[in-house]
Amino acid sequence: MACKISLFDLDLSFTRIKIQNCLPLPRNRKYVLDLSDLQYKQVRLPWKMKILRLLFWVSLSIVVSLFYGFVFRSVFGSPKEKLLTRQMENLKLQYSLIGRQLDNSAAALKGFRLSDDRRYRPILDMDSIPESYRKAGYGGVDRFRDLTGYMNSDLLISYRTKLEDMRNQANIQKESYKSIAEMTIEWKREVDHQPLISPVDVKYRLGDGFKFREVHPVFGTPRMHYGQDFAVPYGTEVYATGDGTVIESGWNSGGFGNFIVIDHGYGLQSTYGHLSQIKVSKGMNIKRGDMVGLSGNTGTSSGPHLHYQIDQFGEHKNPVNFFNNDISVDEYNEMIQALGSKSKFR
Ligand SMILES: [Zn+2]
Repeated sequence: MACKISLFDLDLSFTRIKIQNCLPLPRNRKYVLDLSDLQYKQVRLPWKMKILRLLFWVSLSIVVSLFYGFVFRSVFGSPKEKLLTRQMENLKLQYSLIGRQLDNSAAALKGFRLSDDRRYRPILDMDSIPESYRKAGYGGVDRFRDLTGYMNSDLLISYRTKLEDMRNQANIQKESYKSIAEMTIEWKREVDHQPLISPVDVKYRLGDGFKFREVHPVFGTPRMHYGQDFAVPYGTEVYATGDGTVIESGWNSGGFGNFIVIDHGYGLQSTYGHLSQIKVSKGMNIKRGDMVGLSGNTGTSSGPHLHYQIDQFGEHKNPVNFFNNDISVDEYNEMIQALGSKSKFR
């Protein structure tokens, strides 16, 4: 029962009667006793008050919600913030990995540069690339303008700087390798052209060397011997000692008899004298190891032998300084076979 009765100006007996006749009242409504007819009447608020009350409760709800929301976000953070934080952590990790990869690549490039400076270039007698050239970067103060103004601008600029430096180094390295490769080809060509092997099988003993002879075997007078003789039987195969072009092939009236001269380039020429047969003709390009003739006893010669001579820029050189006679007969023959298999001439 929710009867409410104002008692202040009623006598007690009347009040008791009214209470007995009282009907149950809804709890959510307000009633007042109308003293004029002693009836309970529902209190009806004006619309304005109702709206004001509604606004009050709505405002209070909003304030309370905001307050709890604020406390919740302060303690736990919002889902969006959590997502952004996770993304940021992931980005930091990615940056860190990229940074490590950049450092590794820079270290590898440095290794290439050191190999260049300490190994390849000294071997090929090439100058080192000047440090000033290697360190020359890209100009322009504002080249990273697009990266400024961010929270991580310093990091981005530092990575971009590293990346550009590496690109610069890689380009220099590429050019360097190109010039080294070209020099290697040229160096190999030069080595191939030098007269660096014995012109006959090493099983044959050496005859007179590069020396002053008190008595020339034919003339009987003192005379300088500008070559190396090989005591070989008549008809022994004679090989070209380096790549080159035949510039003389035929009879030499100066004493070499049937002779061949090969121009190896780089100022070097080799002469093969007293031959019984000549297998090449003037103008032929030949390879080291090609059989150019057979030994003999033609010209000013006292017996079968090969006269072998090397001249460099018109100056007579001692041939024994150009070839290694310490190799075995088998090694020499293997070498001639290997060289011959590469020659289109044989
Ligand atoms: Zn001689």
